[in-house]
Amino acid sequence: MTEQPVLLVTGGSRGIGASVALKAAEKGWAVVINYARDRDAAEAIAGVINETGGSALPVQGDVSREEDIAAIFSVIDTTFGRLDGLVNNAGIVDVVARLDEMSRERLERMFNVNVIGALRVAGEAVRRMSTLHGGHGGAIVNISSMAAVLGSPNQYVDYAASKGAIDTLTLGLSREVAGEGIRVNAVRPGIIDTDIHASGGTPDRVRDIASSLPMKRAGEPDEVADAILYLLSPEASYVTGAILNVSGGR
Ligand code: NAP
Repeated sequence: MTEQPVLLVTGGSRGIGASVALKAAEKGWAVVINYARDRDAAEAIAGVINETGGSALPVQGDVSREEDIAAIFSVIDTTFGRLDGLVNNAGIVDVVARLDEMSRERLERMFNVNVIGALRVAGEAVRRMSTLHGGHGGAIVNISSMAAVLGSPNQYVDYAASKGAIDTLTLGLSREVAGEGIRVNAVRPGIIDTDIHASGGTPDRVRDIASSLPMKRAGEPDEVADAILYLLSPEASYVTGAILNVSGGR
């Protein structure tokens, strides 16, 4: 078994997840950088970590596919033999639409990635961390969104509903495993400057919306990552079931 604590970051190749991976490595975690499609981006982040004395392993896997989740955890089991932290970060948006324009296919994709993927990855993490299963405990941070509270009308109610499920997952799972050495928390980012907006067909969203935000600017991935790293850390040893808004007052 590896000496270093091991952290799985789903969607760790870009945006908030990449920032978490870099900061976690600085704090001594060995980091498993999961990604879905962009191998070059994942290898670039892992390269930065490994070249500066850290330990990082890129692992491909679509969290909406059961066989991919099995493959991700199989790599963790065989390479490290332990899992101490999970940042349940992989998530998608879709193009702006009203609910009455959304197809069943769209909703299934959204919920397969953002909800079922997150639930299944958390479940596999608990199997390895829980003292009930012979593990040594750990910490899980789920990535929700202020959309869970605001509802995202006329934009993407489906995405907002998927993040509402992440909030509920956080509350329920935290209580389920609190006596088994596992803390479960979440962050709700506001508008953060990443590629996710372009993938939703609004590449200028951050620029367009910035001046209307309470702090007159969007957030940076590093500002979200710092909150996540706190929730993973021993300094948060009595924090579980918490959902922290990292939204600049939005
Ligand atoms: P991003 O820049 O679009 O990055 C998404 C990451 O997730 C990439 O590493 C991507 O890998 C990976 N990914 C996408 N689908 C996946 C799948 N099915 N399986 C595994 N990995 C997958 O996103 P971000 O803005 O950093 O967002 C990260 C999280 O924060 C998401 O859960 C998002 O909902 C949440 N959030 C973001 C904002 C914001 O304003 N940015 C606000 C609130 C909440 P590939 O590149 O290989 O596809």
